[in-house]
Parts: sequence; structure tokens; C-alpha cells
Amino acid sequence: MTNELQDVSSLPQLKFVAPRRVPPPLHLADLGLAKAQELCVEKGYPKFRADQIAKHWYGRFDNDISNYTDLPSVQREEIFALLLPQLLNEVKTITCDNGTTAKSLWRLHDGALVESVLMRYTDRATVCISSQAGCGMACPFCATGQSGLTRNLSVGEIVSQVQQAAADMVSGKIAGGVGRLSNVVFMGMGEPLANYNTILTAIRRMIDPAPNGLGLSARGITVSTVGLVPRIKQLADEGIPVTLAVSLHAPDDELRNELVPVNNRWNVREVLDAAWYYTRKTKRRVSIEYAMIRDINDQEWRGDRLGRILRGHLTHVNLIPLNPTPGSKWTASRPEDEAAFVAAIERHGVPVTVRDTRGREIDGACGQLAAKAD
Ligand code: SAH
Repeated sequence: MTNELQDVSSLPQLKFVAPRRVPPPLHLADLGLAKAQELCVEKGYPKFRADQIAKHWYGRFDNDISNYTDLPSVQREEIFALLLPQLLNEVKTITCDNGTTAKSLWRLHDGALVESVLMRYTDRATVCISSQAGCGMACPFCATGQSGLTRNLSVGEIVSQVQQAAADMVSGKIAGGVGRLSNVVFMGMGEPLANYNTILTAIRRMIDPAPNGLGLSARGITVSTVGLVPRIKQLADEGIPVTLAVSLHAPDDELRNELVPVNNRWNVREVLDAAWYYTRKTKRRVSIEYAMIRDINDQEWRGDRLGRILRGHLTHVNLIPLNPTPGSKWTASRPEDEAAFVAAIERHGVPVTVRDTRGREIDGACGQLAAKAD
């Protein structure tokens, strides 16, 4: 039998062309005010048009062009399109908890899908945002980790999720009347510290006052990480008092290597050393996240070990009852095991809380974001 494909010398030489990824259009949040002003001048508009646009978008959380009445009507659409290209296209928003939790699915310019979740509590409103489409960290209990990384989000795509949530609060779209967005958590899809420069600029846009940012408090922003040690140290040195959350999930390397595969690169000891460096530099309490997985990481002895390695540090433990994900055989801990685990940590004087898990029934809780359009 002859193999027709054996002799390739006679085939035309096909050049392999890597698919070119078109980046998202540049947005006011990517540019920053100074560059947005330059762009206006370049296009023949007065420089202050950028300030006008920014005051509406950042200062009033306004996405409705018809309200931008201080811009001359002939130029309004052009300038709006120039500085505020629509980066997030709403595919759907579903709510639960009587309308106080809303998960939105967004389609980006290239078809990539991401999710954000807005949660209103009596005393605050928090938006959980995505920093990447997909995630490359491959934690086996997390739905996002199962499909791999599609791409990093841009500053504009990240800040737009926050601006949209702020808009939904001031417009009264979320149940409970008109309110204000107070908190942002990078706990949606993606590993924020793997998109470091972008999330840092995005954070600056969130905390700078209008017209260069949304004017949120840095202390209300939480960056959650699997533990990329050099990046944690870098963040500590930036001098921005955001809250750091570290996804630990196991106090021992043997189990953490399985649950958080990046532990094979930076182990428990190194991650915690970086966390304590963060507390020293920022004087901020580091939050240790720990998903409680039945019979996997919830043994009392592990609680004891966790308390032992954390005691004496500026930290608190946030236990997250495991949220179900498709295809996973794992489930949340039994209540009695959870109670024993909590007690074991508390014996070391380490503060611990169990997270009130919002959005479970709409697959909007921690680790359930998988961004499917159907
Ligand atoms: N990549 C970042 C942020 C995203 S996840 C990080 O890992 O920290 C936010 C938190 O939800 C993390 O602590 C993550 O480990 C946790 N999580 C993931 N899947 C979960 C699940 N199925 N149930 C409960 N928590 C989960």
C-alpha cells in the first residue's frame, strides 16, 4: 500500500500564517484622559471634548448618548464612537435573590464571552468582575479553569464591567432602589495577576476621581489570586491599598499541588511569605480563601494546620462552601465537618468567616462562571 502523503516535496509550499488577533478598540479607559484629549485634537475636535465625555461616563455612569447634550449634536456620535466604543455587548442578564443578584453575560468584539455578577447587600453593593476570557490556571474544582485561557481582557473591557455595574446601581435597575456601587472584586473569570499591567491600570481608573476615573475607594477593591508570587510582591510595592485575597485551598503542598496546580511553581510557604510581605508593605489584612470540598480538604487536622501556619499574621480565613460545577464529583462539606474545621482554625486565634454564597442557582457563584451563551 502506498501512502500518498509520504512524498511532500511535490506539494505546493503552504506558508503557515498565525491567525491575527484583532485587539479590542481603544476606549477612554485604555487611553487615559491626556491621550484622549490628544486624540480629540488629532481628529480636529477641541481638547475639552474628552473631558466632557469623561465627566458623563465616569462621573455620571451614563451610557446614553442622548444625555450628552453639552456636545454639539453634529459631532456627538463621532466623538462618542471615538472615545466610548461599545466593548461589552449584553447577551443576557439573569437574576436571583429577589433581583438583588444579577449575572450578566457579555460578548466582546471578537466573540469572546465573559461574565460579571452584581450583588447588592443591605450596606454595600459589590461587582465581581472578569480579568480574562477563560483562565489558564486549571484549578480542577473551578468551571472557568476547565476550558483554558482565551485571552486577556483590555483595560476598557475591565473598567466597563465596573462602570456598567455602577450605572445599574444609580439607575435603580437592581432591586432595592437607587444605590451606589461600593466594592469591586476580581473574582470572576481569569487570574488577575496574570494580566498584571492591565489590571493595575484598570484599578487606577476605578479609583481616580472623575474625569479620569470612577472615584471608587481602593480599599473597596479586592484582587484575588492563585498565588503568583512575584506579582504579589510587585502589587505590594505599588502603594495602592487594595485588598489582597489568596486562594489557598490547602495548607499542605501535597494537596495544593492538585487543587491549585500553580502550587508546583510557587508553594504554600512561598505564597504565604509573599502574602505577609503584602501585609507589611500595605498594613492591609490579607484574606485567605479556602473552598470547602467534602472529604478532600476539610479534615479537622487540615484546619488545625491551616490555623498553625496563619497564626500571628494580619489575615482572616474566608471559607467558601464548594459550589457545584459541571462534571465534577466534588461537593460541599458536611455542616459538622465545616463546624469542626472552623473551630480548629479559631483555636489558633485566627479569624474565620464562611462566605455567604450568592448566585448559586444562576451559576453565578465562585467558580461557576463558564460563559456559555445558550
Ligand atoms: N483566579 C483568581 C480569581 C477567581 S476565583 C483566584 O483563583 O483567586 C475566585 C475564588 O473562587 C477563588 O478563591 C477560587 O478558588 C474560588 N472558587 C473557584 N471555584 C470554586 C467553586 N467551585 N466553589 C467555590 N469556590 C470556588
